[in-house]
Amino acid sequence: MSTEAENIAAGAQETEIFNRGEQLFRALIENSSDAIALVSEEGLFTYVSPSVEKMLGYTPDELVGRDIRDFFPPHYFSEIVTQFAAVTHAPDRVVTVEHLYLHKNGAPLWLESTISNRLHNPAIHAYVANFRDISTRRQASEHEHLLNAASDVLVSSLDHQFSLQEIAQLIVPALADYCRIAILDETYHIKDIAAHHIDPAKIALVGALYEQYKDRESTTHGLQRLLETGVPELIPTVSERVLDSVRDNPELIAITRSLGLTSYMGIPLIARNKIIGAITFSSIKPTRRYSQADLRFAQELARRIALTLDNSYLYQQAQEEIQERRKVEAALRASELRKDEFIGMASHELKTPVTSLKGFTSVLQRRLSKQGDEQSQHYLARMDVQLNKLTKLISDLLDVSRIQTGKLALQRELFDLDAFIRETVETLQAATLTHQLLIEGSTGAQIMGDKDRLAQVFINLITNAVKYSPRADTVIVRLSKNQDQAIVGVQDFGIGIAEAHHQHIFDRFYQVTDPAEKTYPGLGIGLYISQEIVERHHGRLRVESSKGAGATFFVSLPLIENR
Ligand code: ADP
Repeated sequence: MSTEAENIAAGAQETEIFNRGEQLFRALIENSSDAIALVSEEGLFTYVSPSVEKMLGYTPDELVGRDIRDFFPPHYFSEIVTQFAAVTHAPDRVVTVEHLYLHKNGAPLWLESTISNRLHNPAIHAYVANFRDISTRRQASEHEHLLNAASDVLVSSLDHQFSLQEIAQLIVPALADYCRIAILDETYHIKDIAAHHIDPAKIALVGALYEQYKDRESTTHGLQRLLETGVPELIPTVSERVLDSVRDNPELIAITRSLGLTSYMGIPLIARNKIIGAITFSSIKPTRRYSQADLRFAQELARRIALTLDNSYLYQQAQEEIQERRKVEAALRASELRKDEFIGMASHELKTPVTSLKGFTSVLQRRLSKQGDEQSQHYLARMDVQLNKLTKLISDLLDVSRIQTGKLALQRELFDLDAFIRETVETLQAATLTHQLLIEGSTGAQIMGDKDRLAQVFINLITNAVKYSPRADTVIVRLSKNQDQAIVGVQDFGIGIAEAHHQHIFDRFYQVTDPAEKTYPGLGIGLYISQEIVERHHGRLRVESSKGAGATFFVSLPLIENR
């Protein structure tokens, strides 16, 4: 082969390789989902790849020759120009920015643009720009942001009227140009309603819209319908045909027109299978047409709102119940207080006449004994026994009243516990015919305390032991001591006390009632007073017993050396 022929062949091969290469690059550029553009030094498009049409609505021919800066939303312009200026004076520098760009239909669109300066390369001599549509990504992060902001508002306030307004303000303008949120009460009537519009001057108009159909029997769209049916609504385009359905209400049409409604969706708020409210989202921009994806997002938002509203409703309900319970408790306390006051007053008033009666009885007794009238004396003695019971009752009631008002005074003195117990038991034995009162053991302890008040405790315990063991004949008073305490146990072999009552028998006016048992007289205050007295001595009163197995009450008192 001649050299020329070789040269021609080589040239053809080169051209072919070049052509293949160009085809390959073209294919790459034209099939990329990104739009690729060349921009002149002056900022004019000199080449734009075909994918731009899908992205911005313009064909490449419509863009070539136009200024790249013409398509920024006006409020964006200066910021973006500053960023792009950075590449102008830096060959090979690459800048990537996220920015809004205007679609042919006027809607702003989020793009990620990468621009590099190739003006210094004579073969290119242009800025090379790569545009990528990131609306979906941006929308997802905006939605995420909106959901988070809404959650913040919702959890930060349990007063839902306040949150509703704030939520409405989040929805506008992120998801709507105007919106309404309505909340129902338990009787399915609207309790709260929040309205918001991108233009504050029109908020009143949004309110008026609701007034127009709230009483209509059958509404085809809108809040009232959502509240009735609980079914979400989506009207991507509010056409004349849609408006036809409300033709019979010219005012409603007039308001809808002046609001300039173009697209609409409505979502019921549902919690625990109940419709608790609804939200409407309205667009007035021809470029914002709600889609199924918007509806899904709005449903997620509504689900969170409903959940929080329901929680706040439950919280309020719980609060109201607590308040109610507190009121009842306060009323109970007040009535207890009145009862205590009455008991205090009544026992005080009873004391004087009973004391005089006792006095007159003893005068009469002396006279009758002088006169030798034995029968009258006998009756008088029985009357005296009853008077003693009455005196004891009155003095117990007075003690209850003193304990309640913190006025139970103690006269403390040092005394020998064993001797004191012996004395008390002997006195009681003299008046007790049915039971033998036995003392076992000793404490050898000195006690600092009020002898009269402590005597009251032991009289009470021993009297109870006798009273509640009608079929037994012994009561044992057992004395012992440990490191810190002197212990007096009063044991009987009577009816006993079931475990369930143990913690209550020391309460005021508490009596164990058992239908199988006979009723025992009493007021249920003896143990209450006894416990108070023992505790005022820094001691403890407790019981060991079970039903039918007798009972032992233990009084422990601190030893003098330990106090
Ligand atoms: P009451 O005047 O009713 O005896 P108390 O306060 O002394 O009042 O006792 C409260 C209740 O405890 C009594 O009603 C009785 O049911 C029960 N109780 C007290 N002591 C005994 C006991 N030794 N055996 C059985 N039950 C007792």
